[in-house]
Amino acid sequence: MSYVKPKKSLGQHFLTDQNIAFKIVDSLSSSVTNVLEIGPGTGVLTQFLLSRAEINLHVIEIDRDSVMYLRENFSELKNIWSEDFLKADIATKFKGNFSIIGNFPYNISSQIFFKVLTMRNRVPEVVGMIQKEVAERIASKHGKKTYGILSVLLQTFYDIEYLFTVSEQVFNPPPKVKSAVVRLTRNERKELPCSEEFFIKVVKAAFNLRRKMLRNSLKGICENLPEKFATKRPEQLSVEDFIELTCAIEKC
Ligand code: SAH
Repeated sequence: MSYVKPKKSLGQHFLTDQNIAFKIVDSLSSSVTNVLEIGPGTGVLTQFLLSRAEINLHVIEIDRDSVMYLRENFSELKNIWSEDFLKADIATKFKGNFSIIGNFPYNISSQIFFKVLTMRNRVPEVVGMIQKEVAERIASKHGKKTYGILSVLLQTFYDIEYLFTVSEQVFNPPPKVKSAVVRLTRNERKELPCSEEFFIKVVKAAFNLRRKMLRNSLKGICENLPEKFATKRPEQLSVEDFIELTCAIEKC
């Protein structure tokens, strides 16, 4: 197999610019050894990952044509999992920690991040290319319009950097939207001082009615919000504020 025809249903947009591919791989810090690449496709990032001797590379790819292409063209790539990242039992495949990299399929990028959160104590770093708009959202600080559920939940456990924007012209076929590369670095926070399940519920309820004051959006969860939060809107709360609020109303 010498060519893979891009499939829309799998979110396949193959990056054609070698310099950008190198820059993405170069964004992964040198301290990592185990690395999982999600959706290698025809290997534009894979080739640069393989050239870094310190990296123990595994790739996971749902598309059988791409897997066949990788097997034929990258004989040094030993660990190819022909599987769906969202369904695979990733954590048991690695001994120890592993970092994640990829030009993610944009239709499932949020789900990828939610899955990363469930494995966060094993995943010190993520470098991903995603839709620019999603990158802006997850990197957004409170007080901005783009701040939302994914920003709060990811920033609770990761420091997030928006690294650079990528034009639609450097893909085959070009996507309809611009792309951006982000880096997530696991922060110091271990466990929340309150129930994590309840924290997620509070964050989701608050942003589901994002124009309302919290005393209204959270009415179904707690009738008596602490004074300092009652008249605020969700985008005004930092991650720390959301944690404080959740702990305060846990026994409401
Ligand atoms: N890394 C390549 C391809 C990016 S396109 C490049 O930069 O050119 C996204 C890739 O993710 C495609 O190869 C697609 O087949 C793969 N993919 C889509 N859904 C997936 C899933 N659920 N699990 C693993 N790989 C997936």
